Amino acid sequence: MDNRFVAIMLGPPGAGKGTQAVRVAEHYQVPHISTGDILRDNVARETELGLKAHSFMEGGDLVPDELIIELIADRIGHDDAENGFLLDGFPRTLAQAVSLEDLLREREMPIDVVALLDVEDEEIVRRISSRFLCRECKRDANAGQGTISDVCPHCGGELYQREDDKAETVQNRLEVYRRQTAPLVEYYEGKNLLLKVDGFGRVDEISNRLFKSLERELDPEAG
Ligand code: AMP
Repeated sequence: MDNRFVAIMLGPPGAGKGTQAVRVAEHYQVPHISTGDILRDNVARETELGLKAHSFMEGGDLVPDELIIELIADRIGHDDAENGFLLDGFPRTLAQAVSLEDLLREREMPIDVVALLDVEDEEIVRRISSRFLCRECKRDANAGQGTISDVCPHCGGELYQREDDKAETVQNRLEVYRRQTAPLVEYYEGKNLLLKVDGFGRVDEISNRLFKSLERELDPEAG
């Protein structure tokens, strides 16, 4: 492997992708690119993209592929993405996966690995309903641990619950995942890029499992 690191974090909503993605990106020293975070930031700033994306996000539906592909093409062209990146929440459709390949081919940056966090539906609903995010550091203050304080335990920032984490919307997000995103599992399996990791347990346990699997996959001689 060269010293670039291009990886995708795949998994249903609430699987803990975001929390783990932050850790993996830090470890491999690449930017963590979350399309959900970028979209939420655009919605908050009421940009043209934010105004277009808002209603889809609110209902738990996917934002149209063209908008997302444009967003990603721009983001991976930034200087900080030269040595790779970790994609979180993208691709979410086959069309997005194919467009990503075209973009990466132009940059001669092959995908190293697609990590799938595997979690049961019941656990997903439980985790999403107890999710509280920090406005400052963007981390999940609770991360499925079942305890919550008024401020972020990491940085003291203000906590909030996502608009699309309401029970009605969560069901739709799960259905959208099954219908539109789950086919990517087979797609990346077929390309021999899929690394399935059990996403059940405490955050640190999952991270340990994930890091060990990544090391084994990326540098088989080390372990
Ligand atoms: P997330 O934070 O990844 O759960 O994303 C929140 C919402 O943003 C999703 O429910 C979608 O409405 C939208 N979104 C994020 N990433 C994508 C994507 N790759 N394709 C389409 N919509 C997306």
